[in-house]
Amino acid sequence: MSGIYIHIPFCKQACHYCDFHFSTSMGKKEAMVAALRKELLLRKGEFNDEVVETIYFGGGTPSVLETEEIQSIIDSVYDNYKVAGNPEITLEANPDDLSTGKIMALSKSPVNRLSIGIQSFFEEDLKLMNRAHNASEAENCIREATAYFDNISIDLIYGVPDMDNERWKHNINKALSFGIPHISSYALTVEPQTALASFIKKGLVKNVDDEVAQAHFYILSETLEAAGFESYEISNFGKPGYFSRNNTAYWQQKKYLGIGPSAHSYDGVRRGWNINNNPKYLKAIERGELPMETETLSVTDTYNEYVMTGLRTIWGVSLSRIASDFGENYREYALLQAEKHLRDELLHIAGDTLLTTKKGRFLADGLASDLFMVNLG
Ligand code: SF4
Repeated sequence: MSGIYIHIPFCKQACHYCDFHFSTSMGKKEAMVAALRKELLLRKGEFNDEVVETIYFGGGTPSVLETEEIQSIIDSVYDNYKVAGNPEITLEANPDDLSTGKIMALSKSPVNRLSIGIQSFFEEDLKLMNRAHNASEAENCIREATAYFDNISIDLIYGVPDMDNERWKHNINKALSFGIPHISSYALTVEPQTALASFIKKGLVKNVDDEVAQAHFYILSETLEAAGFESYEISNFGKPGYFSRNNTAYWQQKKYLGIGPSAHSYDGVRRGWNINNNPKYLKAIERGELPMETETLSVTDTYNEYVMTGLRTIWGVSLSRIASDFGENYREYALLQAEKHLRDELLHIAGDTLLTTKKGRFLADGLASDLFMVNLG
């Protein structure tokens, strides 16, 4: 099983908290679509007999593309790769792009899953984040989308300055009122070099507060679990049958090709990343070159990554797999490092699997880093 990720590096405007790769100038959109299609052709040899189970349009804002442009990229995937009979094809979309006409057109395309960047249903949060949509667009587009798509996810952000518990509960309950089967939710993080970081530094916006974020996370988990969602990864909640196949494949260390500027790839041994500069990407692809750097992961890197992704998910970390894939010394080391957290009931062991407890879930990244092995080579 493998996946193809396609990065669409354009956004209408820059959200204040975002440090992803995108350009707000759409001048090269057509050329970019042609380049993405060409990269798909240039890299077809990397997948040989792999069957593509998932195609994921991320960004940036993939919904700035016309439906015909999205279709043409999907055609290039089918022309150059073996695609499973029922692939999951996800499009990240922003509410301001999802007119009724666009939703209808997309529903007739091979796209079968929408991941909508709602973030909040409150005008003040959306303004603080500098989202391109307003609160009524957020609600309307979900209502419209549910008429045409069954597999819909929305993104919500918590821990936003001035968002109290009541406002956060309202956001979750509003999301649930649409009957959607999947929610991805992230704590607002302050990335360096973003507008948000500079507003906080100047005292124009309150800093984010870890304790508030943690309280929001527990409200989120409890409310969604009570509503029949499973928390299958720290930031992802799905009804049975609606877990994202694309994300699950990443977390289970499956191979994926990342197409487009800044996209990352993984072939089971090496990690690669494309240049995060649109003009340089376009020039290289025009010349038939791949603007990509790669690194071969050491055993320690692969172990650390397995621990990090495993502890974030309901599948946890298999101790016997650690021993067989990395060596018995890694298994012993993981258990030794886990001891304190097992005592504090932040981690627990079920059979052969090391998992976070409910109490430890929010702290998964920190717990994982305590189990990391240091790369000496
Ligand atoms: S729309 Fe998404 S990718 Fe674009 S700036 Fe906002 S958060 Fe970042």
